[in-house]
Amino acid sequence: MTGAGAGARETLAELLPTLRAYAIPMKTRFRGITVREGALIEGPAGWGEFSPFAEYGPAESSRWLASAIEAATVGWPRPVRSAVPVNVTVPAVDPRAAHDIVARSGCRTAKVKVAEHGQSDADDLARVEAVREAIGPAGRIRVDANGGWDVDHAASMLTRLAEFGLEYAEQPCPTLAELAALRKRVGVPLAADESIRKAADPLKVAAAGAADIVVIKVAPLGGVRAALKVVQACGLPAVVSSAVESSVGLAAGVALAAALGELDYDCGLATMSLLTGDVTADPLVAVDGTLPVRSAQVDLESANQWESDPSPWRERALAAAEFL
Ligand SMILES: [Mg+2]
Repeated sequence: MTGAGAGARETLAELLPTLRAYAIPMKTRFRGITVREGALIEGPAGWGEFSPFAEYGPAESSRWLASAIEAATVGWPRPVRSAVPVNVTVPAVDPRAAHDIVARSGCRTAKVKVAEHGQSDADDLARVEAVREAIGPAGRIRVDANGGWDVDHAASMLTRLAEFGLEYAEQPCPTLAELAALRKRVGVPLAADESIRKAADPLKVAAAGAADIVVIKVAPLGGVRAALKVVQACGLPAVVSSAVESSVGLAAGVALAAALGELDYDCGLATMSLLTGDVTADPLVAVDGTLPVRSAQVDLESANQWESDPSPWRERALAAAEFL
């Protein structure tokens, strides 16, 4: 056990009495879940969120815990911008619905889900075409296949979709080897998302020549400072995205996006719209395609509405702390 780990466990012991848990139903299914669950801790610097997904064990969850402790105890680095542009996300819906979602959003960038199980290539092409019509020629479109294609299928689809103008394609294939092979065959830039779950992964992505861009989420990388280091070390432009947290967790993503020296790509942080409620009275919701750079305070009345049993979360936090 390192001294740093012991210190972190001591800090957690001090914060643990403040822990409260939430369970907020989602508007649409995401990662197979219909209710987003997590915990919140309060410290001298404010609130932090600890919301690793249910299947994550203590080692993986320890990075989420480090992120929550950072938010609660020391806060985040100084921002270099006061607003963060975000993309609207278009689920695998029909073209008319896709058009409406984009037109209503006020965003200049749309992320369009493709390669959905049970749908055809024609469905993807029609959806992206409708999004281009809605967002106009100056708008940016990225597609996200969530690793749903093999290399040949991805090469053919990206060539066809490129006619509508693509900013990049997110995780078209599942593995780094496939992404690297695909990258030699298509002109559309590639972004790695599912390939990145821990700090070493962006470096592996860069070393394998598997992507042009990395999708970065704060909590799995252990906090805003840790994520900043990862981005610097891998040398690729980052798209800061959320893990669909409450506004407390989202604020950490906003803090990372606000602290990056360069922010070439609009962020995937407009995810409050996926949840039916929030733990703050003033949710981090995008207006005209941007989020303000600020933290989020837990509002007791709001949080009480979604309150769930904190004891399993205390146990998860204590188990995770063993890996700090
Ligand atoms: Mg993705």
